[in-house]
Amino acid sequence: MNRRMPLIAGNWKMHKTGSQAVEAAHELKSRIASAQNVEVMVAPTFTALFQVAQILKGSNIAVGGQNLHWEHQGAYTGEISAEMLTDAGCSHVIIGHSERRQYFGETDETVNKKIKAALNSHLIPFFCIGESESERESGNTFSVLDKQVRDGLNGFTFDGQANLVVAYEPVWAIGTGKTASREQAQEAHQFIRGLLENLFGKAFASAVRILYGGSVKPDNVKALMEMPDVDGALVGGASLDPETFSKLVFLITNCSNFKDDNPCQSF
Ligand code: PEP
Repeated sequence: MNRRMPLIAGNWKMHKTGSQAVEAAHELKSRIASAQNVEVMVAPTFTALFQVAQILKGSNIAVGGQNLHWEHQGAYTGEISAEMLTDAGCSHVIIGHSERRQYFGETDETVNKKIKAALNSHLIPFFCIGESESERESGNTFSVLDKQVRDGLNGFTFDGQANLVVAYEPVWAIGTGKTASREQAQEAHQFIRGLLENLFGKAFASAVRILYGGSVKPDNVKALMEMPDVDGALVGGASLDPETFSKLVFLITNCSNFKDDNPCQSF
């Protein structure tokens, strides 16, 4: 069985000016310096990427974009390419976030093209999927996830190298204060891993990290991380305060390094 390193990512969304992002990056860097057996990523706004990446260079915190366009360059006002992200210092990129699907016309087809562009530029995509409240209530959670995964990853081949991260983010839990129960999260993650195994084989499915996102906070992260298929968290609101986000990083570190044979320690 593969051993999966826990991963926590902070999505700063459209928050923080350049100077505020710089301040947060300095604070995070010193607070998280001693964290081990965990991967950490932050995704600032585009205007702060370069400065934040300079500050975090050589640290244990990676930097990611919040979106990209699939073309290399061209007349696409307001867009940013994979190459521009890597040039700014990014190693990761969030793709298909529900806010982009909901407000900016992101579809499974554009997500597919964006993942392809990211992988071609050696950026690790955080592929976001998740059902809405009405889809869950009508019993369609698994069919929605099934379609998002199949269409988003259509045409790809993956080997045992998990250069993709999946983020399961139930839309009803994002920014609402409602978190999926640990059982709901595990059920969805297990379903997604099973589907990835059918599509790409066991080696890939057992290596790929599946993060939970949706109102993750210091008081609920441990319960989620105890579940066998939850490999970390994609955090919005609680990532904006460096003190709270570092608390999450250390809780995850203590909780479940290397999923299969080190279960969560109790505090
Ligand atoms: C997110 O935006 O990916 C997210 C999970 O937000 P929040 O933690 O605020 O629910």
